[in-house]
Amino acid sequence: MRKKLIAANWKMYKTPDQTRDFFRDFLPLVHGHERDEIVVCPTYLAIDAAVTAAKGSTVAIGAQDVYWQTEGAFTGEICASMLVAVGTTHVIIGHSERRQYFGETDDTVNLKLKSAIEAGLIPIVCVGEVAEERDAGLTDDVLRRQCLRAFHKVSAKKAVNLVVAYEPAWAIGTGKTATPQLAADAHAIIRAQSADSFGQDFADKLRILYGGSVKPENAQTLMSEIEIDGALVGGASLDPNSFAAIVKY
Ligand code: PEP
Repeated sequence: MRKKLIAANWKMYKTPDQTRDFFRDFLPLVHGHERDEIVVCPTYLAIDAAVTAAKGSTVAIGAQDVYWQTEGAFTGEICASMLVAVGTTHVIIGHSERRQYFGETDDTVNLKLKSAIEAGLIPIVCVGEVAEERDAGLTDDVLRRQCLRAFHKVSAKKAVNLVVAYEPAWAIGTGKTATPQLAADAHAIIRAQSADSFGQDFADKLRILYGGSVKPENAQTLMSEIEIDGALVGGASLDPNSFAAIVKY
C-alpha cells in the first residue's frame, strides 16, 4: 500500500506574512490527519516562514525548484544544500511552467534530480504531455522519454525516495481535469518506464501523483483510483479551506 502524498505548489503566490496566515488557518483543519503525507511548496522567500509555522505539525515544506551546482557564481540560483539548511525536505523538479517559460529540459531535470538526491531532498519530478502531443497520440512516447532522461544514471538505491507527478500541461490551471482513467493510463506508462529504469520492485513502490486542476470537488474521484498515489495541487492549494478539503478528500 503506497501512502498518498498531497502537495501544494504555490507558484509565485504568497508573501511570508500571507504564508503565516495560511498556516494559522490550515493547521487546525488537518490536525491529526495521518492517512496522507502533506507537503507545502511556497516561494523561496516564504520557506522560512512556512518551516517555522509548520514546526510540530505533520506538514513538510518543499521548494519549487533547485539548481544543480553546489555553489558558485550562478546569480539568482539556489542549491540543494541551501534548501536543506532552511528546513526544506522536498523539491519539485521539472514543473511544466519551468519547462515552458524557463528553458527547463529533460537534461536539466536529470541534473537537478541528482543534486536533490545527493542533498537528501525528496524529489517530486514532474512529467506530462502538452495538448498537441496528446492530440497527436504521442503521450506514451513523451512520458517514456521524459522519465528515461530524468532517470539517466540514477540508481534505484539513490532514487529510493523519488516521487513522480504526472501533470498533463493542458490540465494545469485550465480547469480541465484528466479523467481518473486517463490519469491511470498515464501513470501506468510512467510506472512501466520506472520498472525499466529501476526494476519492478522499485516501480511497485513508486508514488505517482496526479496534478492538473485538482479541486475539492474532484479530489475524491481521482484519489480513489488505485494508480493515483496523491496530488500536486496548484490554484486550489492557496486557500486553507480548499486545500484541507483536498487533503481530507
Ligand atoms: C500545478 O501547478 O502543479 C498544478 C497542478 O496547478 P493547478 O492545480 O492550478 O492546475
